[in-house]
Amino acid sequence: MARRALITGITGQDGSYLAEHLLASGYEVWGLARGQANPRVSRMRKLLADVQVVRGDLLDQGSLISAVEKVQPDEVYNLGAISFVPMSWEQAELTAEVTGMGVLRMLEAIRVCSSRGASIRFYQASSSEMFGQVSETPQNERTSFHPRSPYGVAKAYGHFLTQNYRESYGMFAVSGILFNHESPRRGAEFVTRKVSLGVARIKLGLASELKLGNLEARRDWGFAGDYVRAMHLMLQADTPEDYVIGTGRTHSVRELVEAAFVAAGLDWEQYVVGDQSLHRPRRGGPAVRRPQEGAYPARLGAHGGLRGARGDDGGVGPAAAHRRWRPRPGLLLALRSSRSVDSARASTEPRSDGRGRAPPGQAGLVHASLLDRARLFTAAVPGAIACLRTAAHVWGLNALSESEDGWPVELAVPHPVEVPGCAVHVTALPSADVTRHRSVRVTTPERTAFDCARRLPRPEGVAIVDQFLRRGVDHDRLLRRATGSRGLRETLAMADRGAASPRESWLRVILVEGGLPRPATQIRVDLPGGRLAYLDLGWPAFLLAVEYDGHEHHTSAADRRRDLGRRAALRAAGWRVIPVRRDVIPGRGADVVEQVANALIECGWQPTSGQVTRILGRLRAARRRRW
Ligand code: NDP
Repeated sequence: MARRALITGITGQDGSYLAEHLLASGYEVWGLARGQANPRVSRMRKLLADVQVVRGDLLDQGSLISAVEKVQPDEVYNLGAISFVPMSWEQAELTAEVTGMGVLRMLEAIRVCSSRGASIRFYQASSSEMFGQVSETPQNERTSFHPRSPYGVAKAYGHFLTQNYRESYGMFAVSGILFNHESPRRGAEFVTRKVSLGVARIKLGLASELKLGNLEARRDWGFAGDYVRAMHLMLQADTPEDYVIGTGRTHSVRELVEAAFVAAGLDWEQYVVGDQSLHRPRRGGPAVRRPQEGAYPARLGAHGGLRGARGDDGGVGPAAAHRRWRPRPGLLLALRSSRSVDSARASTEPRSDGRGRAPPGQAGLVHASLLDRARLFTAAVPGAIACLRTAAHVWGLNALSESEDGWPVELAVPHPVEVPGCAVHVTALPSADVTRHRSVRVTTPERTAFDCARRLPRPEGVAIVDQFLRRGVDHDRLLRRATGSRGLRETLAMADRGAASPRESWLRVILVEGGLPRPATQIRVDLPGGRLAYLDLGWPAFLLAVEYDGHEHHTSAADRRRDLGRRAALRAAGWRVIPVRRDVIPGRGADVVEQVANALIECGWQPTSGQVTRILGRLRAARRRRW
């Protein structure tokens, strides 16, 4: 028979995610809903058609007993609460009744029904707001509480009561002390949704500013979809224990705001307006003091798995099952998913200037630059470091073969993680290979050059290494890194700091790969009349050069006249120069190799029969692959 779960707070954010998770796990799910015509119930039914509804209210003991008797649940998740901290100041008594006393009523309902033979497991949604003015950092399950709001006080009451029912009545009752978790289903009054919705409205021309309180407040934002799995796991344990749950990483509201505006291609400073009235009340002391970045390794997040509440792994029977839990970067997920929901939602609102609705085409958010996206993702994904072409781009190199618009952010991450819009490489980088540049966590120039040589197609890799060499990366150090890989050493050996442009680097690689002798770069030629010319690539012994007619310098009529004059002077000095047009590389590299090979032979190069065989083989292969 399917296990049966009863969820209070089914119409809330966590209730909906938990119901989805339990339904997917084969549960029969019941949701406790209050009120006669609660509009959120019909919304919930649309989203979760398989959830059955039982009427009840946390303010009403009898209704809870009836609900438990009717549903006969195996598990009860008490998520119902007045959950918005500022509101708990405005309706402190109601908060105490629902958020605090509601726990007592639910526990009593279970106790009464359990005494008739049922064995019901109980989860209480406790909150990190109970820590309030923190007494120690990091906080854990034994950290004392000093709540700083009626909400925090009510949660602390519910928390201790849950522990008491466990200890005194032997009930399987546990409490999850959860740090903030967000999603597109989060109420619009919470700051993540307020920001996300505000940005969408500004983007669509529906608003011109976003009013916010304290931008320096720091929060640990996880993703609600992950946190409900932790709730479920806690009730599957062999022994009932309480856990602190968070990502272990805090962000300031300012970071949240910056990220949201960057993602929309907007400058936040033009739109965000400070509003003192939105600061949390400071009743009788300073506002809630928050732990610093990475300061509290919440049991789950920082250690990558759920640990025993009593301090050692061995203390928890089902630790193996628990360790399956790992939070994803919540700020990022919450922002990304909220963004599209809020854009769509805002696009249906009438314009403030009375010009009807926003045009649907504008509902999508513009592409942010690759640099901005790299900034956003490395800030939001724990341990993520911009690498490869993205890193080269951050260092200011000409590294992309296409426009940066659709270019994925290439990230090196320590653990597997799915990040939409990014190409993720799981690797542990030594700290010496990581730095910060232009506010992006990024691989150092040397490491970026090395990785590009190792992982990219050779022409691209060499083109990037060439540019790094010109910026001072030590070629010998790169070669020393490449022990054990002949192919990589060959790639690195092909690099040359003399290359004037990435396409010129490509041309050099194509010629060498084609089996021709390696050309010299930036060859100095003394012309008559004391003039000097520099040839991009060539073989001084055979007075033959190849020059790439790039888009950058050879387009205007004046450029072409100058090129013709210069080449005539070079011819007069005995040099033959083969121009290579930009549309030939890549795609027709084989033609270039053939032309240059013949020219070299005409100029006196005498290839061995082995070299000829090699060149012909390369040409055949290159024509097949459209090099
Ligand atoms: P929401 O505010 O989204 O949901 C609150 C739920 O409580 C709603 O379904 C609401 O139902 C219900 N509720 C309110 N009053 C009553 C009542 N008198 N009787 C029965 N149900 C009632 O909260 P979340 O989903 O975000 O959070 C779930 C729980 O986790 C809450 O207890 C919250 O305090 C706690 N928590 C949340 C965190 C977070 O970051 N999200 C962090 C830590 C703890 P209705 O539709 O009838 O109003």
